[in-house]
Amino acid sequence: MRKYVIMGVQGSGKGTHSQLLAADLDLVNIGVGDILRWNVQNHTKLGAQIRRTMAAGALVGDDVVEGIVRDRLAQHDWNYGFVIDGFPRSVRQAEFFLESYDIDGVIYLDLPDSEVQRRVMARRLCAGCGMDYSLIDNSPREEGRCDACGGELVPREDDTEEVLAMRLREYHQKTNPVLDIFRRKEYVVTIDSRPPKEEVQQTIRARLGLPAYHPPAAARPAEAARRAEAAQPGEAGQPAEAAR
Ligand code: AMP
Repeated sequence: MRKYVIMGVQGSGKGTHSQLLAADLDLVNIGVGDILRWNVQNHTKLGAQIRRTMAAGALVGDDVVEGIVRDRLAQHDWNYGFVIDGFPRSVRQAEFFLESYDIDGVIYLDLPDSEVQRRVMARRLCAGCGMDYSLIDNSPREEGRCDACGGELVPREDDTEEVLAMRLREYHQKTNPVLDIFRRKEYVVTIDSRPPKEEVQQTIRARLGLPAYHPPAAARPAEAARRAEAAQPGEAGQPAEAAR
């Protein structure tokens, strides 16, 4: 059983790395921001309550997020453990979490604020299925369209410069003290999140004593083939990508 928390500033790759860990190690990936966004997108009662708070870049109330985490973990579908992303973000949430669950480690993805803006502004989310993309290193096959469901790719409502500034302030004020709590308990491994994601994932595994990460071998040739195909003229003499 492995139970991890992944922390880091906006755009530091929490979602990406928790998904990679979870997929490979059979862990349940709990993305608190994803659950909150799902509620907003699906117009649930909770979604109506939290929409404005999220759009303004403030933290949603502790009661609400603690309830979400409690309910999610109460499903007990995490036979091999979990990796939780985006929680805890306040001292109260950390205390609640530590009272209720024991954890094996906290992965802290360290990224300077100067790099945050570039990464966050390049983020896109599928309006249909919620899959996320980065125009820096994880672009969709067809510009503006989701590879998985063909949905429209849009920026997140809270990924604007103004809201990002607020979120960074919230992070430094409320979430940094959480790291201090975890550090006192010697749970934290700090990982430089600037290198390419494969390298970062490898470092996470090494630091936690987990099996090495093997990036899918097919991914790179397939990507190369796709790019080559996109560069060929299509039937109507347009690039194949545009002719599709
Ligand atoms: P994220 O996707 O992790 O960047 O989270 C997006 C937004 O969801 C944040 O700006 C907050 O408004 C809200 N949020 C996510 N996790 C939490 C949390 N643990 N506590 C309070 N608000 C949260």
